[in-house]
Amino acid sequence: MRRPIVAGNWKMHGSRTENARLIEMLVAQYPADPGADCVVCPPFVYLQEVGRMLRDTPIAPGAQDVCADPQGAFTGEISAAMLKDVGCEYVMIGHTGPGLLYRESDQLVARKFAAAHAKALIPILCVGEQLADREAGRTRELVARQLDAVLELCGPDALEHGVVAYEPVWAIGTGRNATPEQAQDVHAFIRARIAARDARIAAATRVLYGGSVKAGNAAELFAMPDVDGGLIGGASLKADEFLAILAAAG
Ligand code: PEP
Repeated sequence: MRRPIVAGNWKMHGSRTENARLIEMLVAQYPADPGADCVVCPPFVYLQEVGRMLRDTPIAPGAQDVCADPQGAFTGEISAAMLKDVGCEYVMIGHTGPGLLYRESDQLVARKFAAAHAKALIPILCVGEQLADREAGRTRELVARQLDAVLELCGPDALEHGVVAYEPVWAIGTGRNATPEQAQDVHAFIRARIAARDARIAAATRVLYGGSVKAGNAAELFAMPDVDGGLIGGASLKADEFLAILAAAG
């Protein structure tokens, strides 16, 4: 039985005051057992402070990205060891934000996954297609390529505690979510692709859906058999909305 996860990607939002208010509301209204794990991913500069506020709560801190290299002359980058050092537990890998802006290759994403895994961070590997790719019927081909890059570099064992997030690029921040059937189709494909290498790990891997999830559409998405929760952007910035999504996952 896979325990669902709901992870909030705060993107470049928040301030020390706003973060404190959001965490305070999340913690105050957090259910005794939501039946799902909960993660929030603030911008790097707030990670340590948010982590401190989350100490002794069931909510885990995560980062939005990590450097593929362990240390060195990489100006502006943050290593997996640094994330670990400030109490970070999860890290998003290959999110389309940096991926699109800086054109990360599948190989670079796989190296970031390996770097996170090596420091015992839980990677949330983001995969997904652009609208033109979906319309051209290339969704599976692209998702397979992104997933295979990680499986080839790290092996299926690296997914043992890892998480995959299917995030169709056309659904991120657009208000247009994938239908539950579209999500299920790709999630089942991802699980089958992992199962081709290791059936036990495939059965245990949590595959999240991300892309315009809200309280109003979360339940129908999470009801699909291979959807194990969500990676939530905009809606994670509102405590009520985020907690309703968490409840839908549990
Ligand atoms: C995201 O940033 O990963 C995301 C899914 O955003 P949104 O929920 O706003 O579409």
